[in-house]
Formats: sequence, structure tokens, C-alpha cells
Amino acid sequence: MSFWPGVVVATPAHSGVGGILSYRSESPLTPGALVRVPLGSREVLGVVWDCPATPPEGLSEAQTKPVAGALEGLPPLNERWRQLVRFSAQYYQRSLGEVALAALPPQLRELDAAQLARRLQRRDKKASTAETLPAQAVTGHDLSAEQVLALQALAEATEPVLLYGATGSGKTEVYLRATQAVLETPTPEGEPPTQVLVMVPEINLTPQLEARFRERFEPAFGAGRVVSLHSGMTPAQRLASWLAAHTGTARIVLGTRMAIFASLPGLRLIVVDEEHDPSYKSQEGARYSARDLAVYRAKVETEALAAAGQAARCQVVLGSATPSLESWHAAEQGRYQRLDMPGRIGGGALPRLRLVDMNHQPKGAAIAPPLLAAMEERIARGEQCLVLLNRRGYAPVLSCDACGWKSGCPHCSAFRVFHKLDRTLRCHHCGFTQRVPRACPDCGNLDIAPVGRGTEQVEEQLAQLLQDVKRTDGGPVRVARMDADTTKAKGSLEAQLAALHSGEVDVLVGTQMVAKGHDFRRITLVASINADAALFASDHRAPERLFALLMQAAGRAGRDAQHAGASEMWVQTWHPEHPLFAALKRHDYPAFAAEQLAEREIAGMPPHGFQALLRADARTQAAAQAFLNIAAEQAAGLPHRDDITLYPAVPLTIQRVANVERAQLLVETHSRAALQRFLGAWQPVLHACRSAPEARGLIRWAVDVDPLSI
Ligand code: ADP
Ligand code: ZN
Ligand code: ZN
Repeated sequence: MSFWPGVVVATPAHSGVGGILSYRSESPLTPGALVRVPLGSREVLGVVWDCPATPPEGLSEAQTKPVAGALEGLPPLNERWRQLVRFSAQYYQRSLGEVALAALPPQLRELDAAQLARRLQRRDKKASTAETLPAQAVTGHDLSAEQVLALQALAEATEPVLLYGATGSGKTEVYLRATQAVLETPTPEGEPPTQVLVMVPEINLTPQLEARFRERFEPAFGAGRVVSLHSGMTPAQRLASWLAAHTGTARIVLGTRMAIFASLPGLRLIVVDEEHDPSYKSQEGARYSARDLAVYRAKVETEALAAAGQAARCQVVLGSATPSLESWHAAEQGRYQRLDMPGRIGGGALPRLRLVDMNHQPKGAAIAPPLLAAMEERIARGEQCLVLLNRRGYAPVLSCDACGWKSGCPHCSAFRVFHKLDRTLRCHHCGFTQRVPRACPDCGNLDIAPVGRGTEQVEEQLAQLLQDVKRTDGGPVRVARMDADTTKAKGSLEAQLAALHSGEVDVLVGTQMVAKGHDFRRITLVASINADAALFASDHRAPERLFALLMQAAGRAGRDAQHAGASEMWVQTWHPEHPLFAALKRHDYPAFAAEQLAEREIAGMPPHGFQALLRADARTQAAAQAFLNIAAEQAAGLPHRDDITLYPAVPLTIQRVANVERAQLLVETHSRAALQRFLGAWQPVLHACRSAPEARGLIRWAVDVDPLSI
């Protein structure tokens, strides 16, 4: 007897074969099983989606190829996982195969059944006995009153929970306790042990968090119970973590957005820390929001548990001191349940906001005199300062006064950044790097000068400005820098964090990566020296992001109650009267959110409206825009077309990157359902528009649903 399994394989994004391919098998295959199947001249990994005993209509036995082999020893991916993948593919307008295979660890694609069997064996030996109940009691902090209340409410919550807690309010302890409650819940005989997924926005934050979770749970639950999943791991490490999660050996998975697709058969809790962070939205392939998928995934898991007659649920907790406006709005509507933790552990106050009006400062000063004086005072007291600047390198542009030459990138519509340390001009968009020319390439003028400032320059200037200041131990002040350039090498981030924690460093200059999450004890002054650009950006989300960044940065200060009374957040601005600062001064996120939401309601912007972008990359800007505009014309008559506004195609802000011209077209509507139906119907049209003569030179196109920046 034969079977005709439908198998999902990775297909090129625009091949049009995005669906399920039919194969033949002599024995029935379980949906969710991993198989190797022939595709063209290759053999590829696939996921069995269904397995009918009759051939699909129009296909004869001779037309279907047999499945090459099953990856035995690996339990099938369960129905809830497949449902998550199915939903993601549909919602974000990508092929099922692309989403399903991208959700699996890359190394799995390369292994044959025998190699996989060896991996699994090796793993089984390493992991300690599969005790699911703690061997000893788990110990943690004595909870604060706010933490107790939050945990009680969480235990009863039936909706997604928005944990709105100030920086330093102890949200992580709430995650740890909620995790503990899940791990200590026994599961019925034959069911997989309970599991928890904790997501953080940045790879950098995983080592600290992993250490905390290990320390808390591995003594009681055994080694190997906590694993990480992020793109900074080697393929072998990723496979090992994935297998541990899939087989239930790992009880806790910590990871970045990609972890949302981990196979977790016993999933009971998903935590999304710093849920407002833009990095939860993928910017390539399927442009999914891991935060939104977390909410969906928890719902699917809960429904499945209910259908199986179990009382257990899968909860989702979104945590932030500055929630996304989407989540805030959902809580106001009652779709999410908000839990507040306004106080800081130890009763420390949030830092006081000090605005420096740059209109009244000496011209050209990177650090205004009053800010410098405040920093000197702190250092003299043995405290630390953090200086934030969202631009790495020495200067964003080199320029020739004589002829007007600027350090543009020949491949992009952007300037190359001057890096003084290695004397290079580097394009931060395409990576094109050259030695700094000795003289102006156009006119030979020797006097080419940096314009504007990056972290390298501020580090250099601060070291100079502070050279006469003494540390408490009498030594010279130490200024360090932390950005993507200084943390590239493996282990360098940890080393730099250690230097900061030990007090070796007095002043840290860094990009936003230092503002996030880290628990710095002795920083009492945080300064943002160049944040104005975001105040007037055309992107309607820029203020929201700036507010979150400044609140989070401020949250780095005064975490030690010993110093908390005097901690300060300094902001240098040319627009001190901007309303954003008034709300920031009062640490009043609710007021800020209310004002932003009111503006968005008037403008019909998310969360009061729904958007998608159609993006196109092409050899010429004309081709990119032609494709988009033709696609818009051809949308006439599609379902819900009347409910949808299609704007004309426009170039992206940085229009050319690596010699590719980029354009986009905004799709807007008042109804998510209308948007979804319209986009679904538009897909085949988009595939067809590819071959329009005007669109010659089109390289690729993609739909971005719920885009974060437009
Ligand atoms: P958040 O994530 O809300 O910014 P954290 O969870 O990092 O805050 O907590 C801030 C600090 O307070 C951490 O050093 C943490 O160990 C400590 N902490 C948290 N809860 C308690 C508690 N109940 N008692 C004492 N210290 C706590
Ligand atoms: Zn010149
Ligand atoms: Zn470039």
C-alpha cells in the first residue's frame, strides 16, 4: 500500500512553489515528522504536513517521487508548532516552506539519519537524569510587596499579561518566580515536562540572563535544563539547544526573536522582556514580530491544552518600563491585563532629568560645561558615568572645505564613516572600506576634516577633558567605549562589562547597546548627548523609540539604593521645550502614551489603523517604483480593495545600498482582517507583475506586514 505525504520544503522566496509538495511513501508518515526528500537534483530536509492514503488529484504514482528517508529517533513536530508556522506564513505573506524550514536549526538540514542518531545519543549521555521535579528547594530573593501582588495576579490571569514595571523594579525576579511555578507543576503521565520560553531583544543580554537562570534552577533541576538560542551561536550549539528543547531535556529556553519558533512540546509560559524593543521584529525573510507571535503561540497552546481536557494553560508575559503603544492600547481595551510595578527595589528614586539647552552653550562643545562639571563630581566620589551617543566611529562624514568633497559611499546613497583608530572610511550600509585618503581625492587639498561626532571622538575628547580629574584611588580617570566595534571579538563584551562592574572604568561611552537591560550598580549619571534627530524624524515611531531609549538609559542609573537619591539623567538638546521631555521629566509614560495614541488615532496610524509595506529592490529606481505602481494598478477589483489605501511608490530614505535601488509602497487600512484578505489575494498579482516590461531590473520584492518604520 502507498501513501502520498505532503511535505513542506524550503523553496526560494519567489519561486511560486511555496506550498506543500506531494511525495510517495510505502508506510504512513506522522505529520510533523522530519524527512529527506528529492527536490530537483538535490535531496533536502522537509516536514511532513499530512499523509493521505490516496494520491492527490491529478497526480499518478509515476509522477511522485518517493521520500528518501525519515529522520527517525526524532519525535515529530507537534500540531501546535505547525499551527504557529502556518499562521506566521499566512499572516506575514511568506511561503509555508520558507517559514517552516527557517524555523529549524540550519545544521539539521545537513545531517542524514545516521548522523542525527549519533548526535542524539551523545546528548542523552550528557544530560543528567530526566527528573522533572526539583531535587532540592529553589531559593530566590524575598519578594517585594509589588512582586508578590504581580505574581498573584499573574497566577490568575487568563489574558496576555503586560508587566509594566519601572526599570529596577525587579521584573526579572517575577519572571524567575513564574518560571519556577511552571517547572514545579507536574504533568500527567506520558506528557512532556513543562517548559518556559524567555525572550530578550539582544544577544548581549543572554549571557547575564542565562547565568541567572542557571544559578537559580540547575541546582534543583539538574544540568542542561537551561539553554540559549540566538544567532550568535555556532550551528552545532544551535542544534544542540534546539534538540534539548524539542526532546524536553531543556526546561527553559532563553533567546532572541528566533527562539519564538523553537519546538517546545511542554510550553506553559512565554516571557517577552523589553517587549517594546524593535529588534523583536524581523527585518528579513518573513518579517515576523516575535512579540506578536508569542501572544498567538500562547493562545494556541492554551486552546490545545483545553481541548485535551487539561486544566493547565500557557501564559504570556510582556514586560517593559515603556511598553509599545500597541501593547499599551491592548491593555486599555482589556485585551491584555496590565500589572504595575512602579517602585524600584530598595526604594531608590528614578534619576532626575537634567536638560541642557544647547542654545546657551559654548559653540562646538560635545559635552556642555555643566554636564562635564557634574561628571567630574561623580568621578571624584567614586561613582560612574554613562555617555550615550547613537553613532559609532569617529565622525559620520569627512569633508573638504576647498571643493566640497564628502566621504560618500560609491555604492550607496550614504556617507562613509571616518574611523580614526584604524584610519578607515567605512560604509555602515554595505561595508565598503578604504584607507582614509591623505588629501582630498577631488582637489588634493590636504585639509580634509571630520564633520559631526561618533563614539570614538567622544571617547577621545572625554579622556582629554577629564585628564586632570583624579579617581578616589588617586589614579587617572579611565574612559572606555562600548559599541558594535569594540564588542565584535568573542568574549570582549563580557570583558568590558566586567571592567565596568569592577569599577575599573569611570566613564563609559557607548551606543544604545549599553542602554539596554544591563544591571550596572555604580552608575549614577547617564547622559544622552545627541538625541535631537529623533524628535523631528518623519517616522511616526521615532518619539516612542526615543522616549523608551531615554527611560531605559535612565534606568541604568541609581540601581544601587546607596546612590539612588542623587542619580541623574542628562539630555543635551536644542529643543528643551519639546513635550516629550516634559513627560520624561515626570517619568510619566502613561501621559506620553496617551498623547501619542491620541495623535495616532487622528492620523489613523497603528494601533488605530493597520499597515503593510510592499518593498522592491531593483537595478534602477525607476524599475523598483514601476513594479510597485503596476502592482497597485493591478490590485483593482481585489477583495477589500475599497477599504485599502495604496500610496504611490517612493524611494527609501537611504535609496541605494550596495548598488541596489530601493523603493516602497505603503498599504493602509482600518481593518486587520481586510488587510489580511487583500494581501493574500494580492500575492499572485505580485508574482505576475514581476515580469512587466517596465519592471525589468527588479531584483526582489517583499511584503512587510505591521512594519516598524515607514
Ligand atoms: P528590572 O528587570 O525590572 O529592571 P531587575 O529584575 O534587574 O529589574 O532587578 C533589579 C535588581 O534588584 C537586581 O539586581 C535584582 O537582583 C534585585 N532584586 C529583584 N528583586 C529583588 C527582591 N525581591 N529583593 C532584593 N533584590 C531584588
Ligand atoms: Zn577637495
Ligand atoms: Zn556603501
